[in-house]
Amino acid sequence: MKFNTDVLHAEQLHARLTGSYKPQAMAHVSPIYQTSTYVLEDFDTAVYLNQHVDEGFVYTRFGNPSCDELEKKIAHLEHAEAALSLASGLGAISTAVMSVVKAGDHVVFGDVIYGCSYALFAKVLTNLGVTYTRVDTTKVEEVEKAIQPNTSLVYVETPANPTLKISDIAAIAQAVHKHPNITMIVDSTFASPYLQNPLDLGADMVVHSATKYLSGHGTVTAGVIAGSKARIDHCRMPYLQCFGAVLDPFAAWQLMQGMKTLGVRMERHCENAMKVARHLEKHPKVNRVYYPGLESHPTHEIAKKQMHNGFGGMMSVDIKGGMDAVRTVMNNVKVFSLATSLGNVDSLIQHSPSMSHFDMTPEERHAAEIFDGQVRLSIGIEDADDLIADLDQALALV
Ligand SMILES: *Cc1c(COP(=O)(O)O)cnc(C)c1O
Repeated sequence: MKFNTDVLHAEQLHARLTGSYKPQAMAHVSPIYQTSTYVLEDFDTAVYLNQHVDEGFVYTRFGNPSCDELEKKIAHLEHAEAALSLASGLGAISTAVMSVVKAGDHVVFGDVIYGCSYALFAKVLTNLGVTYTRVDTTKVEEVEKAIQPNTSLVYVETPANPTLKISDIAAIAQAVHKHPNITMIVDSTFASPYLQNPLDLGADMVVHSATKYLSGHGTVTAGVIAGSKARIDHCRMPYLQCFGAVLDPFAAWQLMQGMKTLGVRMERHCENAMKVARHLEKHPKVNRVYYPGLESHPTHEIAKKQMHNGFGGMMSVDIKGGMDAVRTVMNNVKVFSLATSLGNVDSLIQHSPSMSHFDMTPEERHAAEIFDGQVRLSIGIEDADDLIADLDQALALV
């Protein structure tokens, strides 16, 4: 071969000519399959695999070995037959939801859910002829009452963003599954698979924003869906195939490195959050702390029953003095970073009414207990005393 052919092909051509097309080394950490397509063995294999994309690798939008490895890990952690990785949490949520609902259907979901998940139902699916009812999903009877003959999906986020309300997955699943045509999806992002396994409790599919605890380091945007093989295959083809929210192989690889420490990170997140919550609950400048680990939390008993290993690292705090007090605290914290997102090793602070939940009307926010004086804390794995001292010095300025 001449240079321009050689420089592109030398390795593979040599391997193919000598019949030694084997990996160069058994890497301890999996290599990144940063490739968009795959060399297929021969014509018949190509024809077969194009029609059976779950049996091999043809094109990265249909599957990639780095994403496949991640998906097997997620399926394992969520006690599922299969899982699918996507480019973001919303990519996972929209793909899972679209795989279930069709024009003319009705959806039931919680009055407190992630802002963009709400926008998917309220701003996108309504245009496609899908109606919805929002209910307090912490009350099973309200979910049951909202079910209509054309309901095809009950969508539950627990713990819910940002007031940390806990919905009883097992009780809702039992009520929902009296209706054979209804699918139940749970957004378990705030818990991570370390604290909660919704499929074990009867949910049909679980979704995560893997951008958060699964990744843990704020370096990746990703989402995952887990469930039965039939449901995941249906999400992949045709929905992921057509919407194309495919996770990049490098992001999949980075996510897997982060996931290795999920357990030890979650333990520290939970321990620190409990200390911060107990401290703030007694703080004179604080009206109320929303943390499911506190006995004062209205759904603490459900949390105890349903979440194993702890209550997570997320909380919301109502500061006395409304928006002005919030501004003072958020402008003066030094260890916490003023940033949206959550689940990172370092602590973050955000203002839910004007940031993650600005899509809701003031009336909707009020009904959902998202008040102007409320900050949301994502408690990191720093030393708890430093986090408490940081919040104290900022609150002292209010
Ligand atoms: C962040 C988040 C999402 C959206 O995930 P992205 O990765 O940002 O698309 C969905 N649900 C919850 C509960 C979240 O916190």
